[in-house]
Parts: sequence; C-alpha cells; structure tokens
Amino acid sequence: MPPAENSPINVKLLLIGNSSVGKSSLLLRFSDAQWLPEDESSATIGVDFRVHKMNVNGKKVKLSIWDTAGQERFRTITSSYYRGAQGIILVYDVANRDSFDALPRWYSELETYVSSSVVKILVGNKVDKEFSRQVSTTEGQQFAQRMNSLFVEASAKTSVGVKEAFEEVVSKIIDTPELWASVGDKGAKTPKRSDATSATGGMPGNIDLSADQSTQADGGCGC
Ligand code: GDP
Repeated sequence: MPPAENSPINVKLLLIGNSSVGKSSLLLRFSDAQWLPEDESSATIGVDFRVHKMNVNGKKVKLSIWDTAGQERFRTITSSYYRGAQGIILVYDVANRDSFDALPRWYSELETYVSSSVVKILVGNKVDKEFSRQVSTTEGQQFAQRMNSLFVEASAKTSVGVKEAFEEVVSKIIDTPELWASVGDKGAKTPKRSDATSATGGMPGNIDLSADQSTQADGGCGC
C-alpha cells in the first residue's frame, strides 16, 4: 500500500567505496553540516547511520543514510547491509587512483545484492585536492555513464557538491515510484537506536531492520 498522503516516504541510502575515500565525512557534512579536521578523523569516525528529513518535489522524505563503519576494510560487507536500499552512493577519491580502479568490484557486489532498478550515484570526492588529482572529471563521468549511474564531484571538506549528490539520488528515487510506493515502509525501516551497534566499529548490517520506526529515536539524527 502506498504511504498515506502526509506521511513521509522512507528512503534508505547506502554509502560504499574503499576505505578512506571520505564516506563518513560526506555523511557528516550532509547530515550535520560538520567537518572533522583530517587528523581527528583518521580511521572511519564510526558513523553508522543518520536520519535526515527533506522535501523533494513537494513530497516529504525521511532518509536513512548508512555508512559502512569500516566494514569494507575487511572486505566483509554483509548482505544485510544492502537489504531494502533504494539508493547507493559509490564514493572514490579523485586523488587516489586505486579507489577509482576498485569501482568495478563494488559494482559487481551491487549486482549480487541489489536490484538493477536501485538508483546509483558515483561521487568523486576530495576535489579540493585538485593539485594531486589522479582521476579526471571526464573519466569519472564516462565511467558513471557506462554503469548507468548519476555522477557528481564533491568535497566533504569544502562541501562543494555534497548536498547536490544526496539530493540528486533522492530526487531520482522519488521519480521512480516502484522503488518506494509498493513497499511502503518495508523498504527503509530505521532501526531502534538501542539495536544499533556501537559507534566504534559496529556492523550496520547486523541491525534489526524490522524494528518499528515509530518507536525509535532516529539514531544520530541531525534533523
Ligand atoms: P571513509 O573511510 O571512506 O569513511 O573515509 P573518512 O570519512 O573516514 O575520511 C578518510 C580521510 O579523508 C580523513 O582523514 C578525512 O578527513 C579525509 N577526507 C574526507 N573527505 C575529504 C575531502 O573532501 N577532502 C580532503 N582533503 N580530505 C577528506
């Protein structure tokens, strides 16, 4: 059943990509308008998820945005991390060629775990490091096109492109009702805070996504 007229559409977004490309930083920048200086955020800060409310084309949207919390370092992202996602944000670092070269592996993981209708956006992060860029904008753009993904370059540090990246992916999801209208709440439940793993290296994939959203306190809500 479609959600009631004035209840928000629940959308689940995932961040994936190599370690240290700036996934947590992008999430903090978007949801909390926050930037931790490089030396304070050495390893993944341990963000697990954020809830963010926004309006898109006159529709209320409740976003839950999930970060890997470092799982990718061990190449063990659990299949449950991907469950119910309507949008995927694939991140690489424009100043780190390896993180770009790793993208085919991330896309093949997506083929295994998510439906092809899920909206994907490729984000080339750290454009503030223009002086040490290793991947050109054109190369990023062309790759994204081949992979049927949206594309944005961004910097969590300066906030260039960050809002746009999240807004573009959400807007395309909203334009694709089959991603949310038929599933209602099912696709993007937000877990109870008490069920969430700790902020230090927890595995979001292990959180009980069947928790009743109405009773939870929006983990780490920056809204
Ligand atoms: P994650 O492992 O992908 O979640 O990456 P983090 O968000 O933990 O970031 C890894 C490192 O890159 C940290 O030192 C961040 O401060 C730094 N970083 C993240 N985003 C940017 C950016 O846009 N520009 C620059 N210069 N550094 C960034």
